[in-house]
Amino acid sequence: MEFECEQCGGQVQVPKDALSGELVSCKDCGSEYEIMIDENGTIELKAAEEVGEDWGE
Ligand SMILES: [Zn+2]
Repeated sequence: MEFECEQCGGQVQVPKDALSGELVSCKDCGSEYEIMIDENGTIELKAAEEVGEDWGE
């Protein structure tokens, strides 16, 4: 399954057996997205820029 990268418009690959909360990254720009799967099985990507950054202690 492929999604469009919000940052560069590139293709972000999401495996069919992806789990909610998993992180995927754009091959083109390296932006990270968290996979969100709702009860209906609808997959959405949420930009995960805030996650894993150094700010905050
Ligand atoms: Zn990208």
